[in-house]
Amino acid sequence: MSSSDEFSVKQPKVLIPEVKIQQRLSELAQEINVDYANKPIMAICILRGSFIFFADLIRQLDVPVTCDFLGVSSYGNRSVTSGEVKVTMDIAEPLEGKHLLIVEDIVDSGLTLAYILNMFKTRRPASIKVCSLLLKPESLKATVDVDYLGFKIGSEFVVGYGMDYAGKYRNLPFVGYFEHDH
Ligand code: 5GP
Repeated sequence: MSSSDEFSVKQPKVLIPEVKIQQRLSELAQEINVDYANKPIMAICILRGSFIFFADLIRQLDVPVTCDFLGVSSYGNRSVTSGEVKVTMDIAEPLEGKHLLIVEDIVDSGLTLAYILNMFKTRRPASIKVCSLLLKPESLKATVDVDYLGFKIGSEFVVGYGMDYAGKYRNLPFVGYFEHDH
């Protein structure tokens, strides 16, 4: 691969513009602030795709928040789910007695979230809720509840606002898609 191939990237189309993401995010944060009132939240960022959503969301929370990070990988560089979930970095803190708010970028098959929920339940938290920016209802294979949902989308592969394709596009401020599949 020449260095120009490495840096040549296809331009995605806008699916959800930045302003719509930020509006919806404020609504979700408001709901979370009301629901938790003075209950401390342990917000868990599912790496890597949700890091930008997580950073924007927690800055709009006015309840006491601590942050932790869980690294999972399920896709490698492919754009279809392998169904396999691997924990690449575990949570640093004990979860017992904590009110967990899992922050995901996107629930596609739901297998990743189902795996994470099962794993966390064994650690005896006081409660677990899920906040996801996106959900693909047509792709769901596992039964999972998303308590705070940004947007439902179709089954297209999306990038931007933290989400990648082969490591690229995470820095786009909007959620985008490609007209032709990779
Ligand atoms: P699931 O286990 O629900 O099929 O997939 C969950 C994870 O796969 C997400 O957290 C995300 O990292 C990745 N994923 C699923 N769909 C997409 C997509 O359309 N675009 C990108 N970039 N990642 C996706």
